[in-house]
Amino acid sequence: MDFALDSETLQRLERARELGRLELRPLGIECDRLGRPTPPDHPFFAALLRLGMGGTRWRPAGEVQATPARETTTSARETTTSARETREGRSRVDLLIAEELSYWDRGVTVSFPGPGLGEPSVLSMGTEEQRARFLGPFARGDRPRWGAFAMTEPGAGSDVAGIRTSARRDGADWVLNGEKSFAANASRADWIVVFATVDPALGRDGHRAFVVERGTPGLGDFKIEHKMGLKAYESTSFALRDCRVPGANLLGGEGHYASRAGFKGALRSFNATRPLVAAMATGIGRAALDESLGFAREQGLLGDVRVRDRLERVRRKLRMARLLGLRAAYMADRQRPNLADASIAKAVAPQVAFEAASLGMELLGLVGGRGDHLIEKLFRDVKAMDIVEGTGQIQRLIVARELVQYPRD
Ligand SMILES: Cc1cc2nc3c(=O)[nH]c(=O)nc-3n(C[C@H](O)[C@H](O)[C@H](O)COP(=O)(O)OP(=O)(O)OC[C@H]3O[C@@H](n4cnc5c(N)ncnc54)[C@H](O)[C@@H]3O)c2cc1C
Repeated sequence: MDFALDSETLQRLERARELGRLELRPLGIECDRLGRPTPPDHPFFAALLRLGMGGTRWRPAGEVQATPARETTTSARETTTSARETREGRSRVDLLIAEELSYWDRGVTVSFPGPGLGEPSVLSMGTEEQRARFLGPFARGDRPRWGAFAMTEPGAGSDVAGIRTSARRDGADWVLNGEKSFAANASRADWIVVFATVDPALGRDGHRAFVVERGTPGLGDFKIEHKMGLKAYESTSFALRDCRVPGANLLGGEGHYASRAGFKGALRSFNATRPLVAAMATGIGRAALDESLGFAREQGLLGDVRVRDRLERVRRKLRMARLLGLRAAYMADRQRPNLADASIAKAVAPQVAFEAASLGMELLGLVGGRGDHLIEKLFRDVKAMDIVEGTGQIQRLIVARELVQYPRD
């Protein structure tokens, strides 16, 4: 692995740092105090579009990327990419940008316009026509747009095979019924990738992925959940009631589901995004460490060897977490299977970031208890990083199964 960064990447990281310092951190604190996400018509989002963000990594078949393209940002995926990076190190750059933006505010980062977590599913499972139809508009940059991804249900989180949202064929259409939980940016999204089942008894083999467009009759009851942290973006529950979706919106078409490809499509997107979530956690952990160091210095605590020892331990672990994420990205950039590497990175980074924020809270003492210090916000923000896109326990199960070559169920 080559750790050197080219000048273009360094410049992009510097731009992310400036954006974070000037915009993300203050906006994140404001949303946290107000207890609500940034509204979709906030001028910040239009400003992001002017900076070239809010786009998609999709390009029409055959188009060569000679010049920087727009950025897609909901999952902080840096996509102002050159053809060379696409071959050599795009995932690595994505990771570094995600970490930097999350250092300043992970909640605001996830609120960025873009197709978000829905994009990997459309890219990996959609036909070329579907990619153009659903991702193409994001390339226009005419207005902030969002996409969303809805797998989780009130009764199915870790065990995604247990989803109950039903999909029934009716003529040329599909009719969906069910409830979805905690889908990022769903109420403001132009479309949501919804996973449903044709028969719960089939487990993952029964899964189908649909793009449900905003305004489709039967899509509704949006409820933005109250969260302990990451308040700058919406996590939204919604219902599908006799929601009629055209057959053309079944991702990949019927043939795609003849094998187990449907579920594997979702898994592929997780493999791409888990290292990103790990990087975001590392970013929050770094912020907690910097704030803790600042506080300890101000309060004259650095003379205590125990304090220095714990700060050093956290820094060491954060470096380890970053390296694990970079390894998973390195594998992805070379199109090598990264299931275990992605899961190891995702299992480790949130725990380390949590340790960093916990140490900060201990150093703050009563100051932390007042609830108005940045470390206290980071402490609440970081918890979700262990939950989203597969909890820490689930990642460890995956790695253990891989270790002993246990067959998938
Ligand atoms: C901030 C936030 C954003 C989210 N965004 C999205 C989104 O955009 N789209 C989406 O679809 N979902 C989203 N989710 C949902 C998220 O993916 C689920 O919360 C997660 O998969 C865990 O599911 P659960 O909450 O139902 O917990 P459960 O699956 O009920 O698990 C509860 C606890 O049991 C443990 N556990 C479960 N099974 C096992 C096992 N076999 N062995 C050991 N331990 C186990 C878990 O680790 C966890 O600690 C989001 C969640 C949060 C908090």
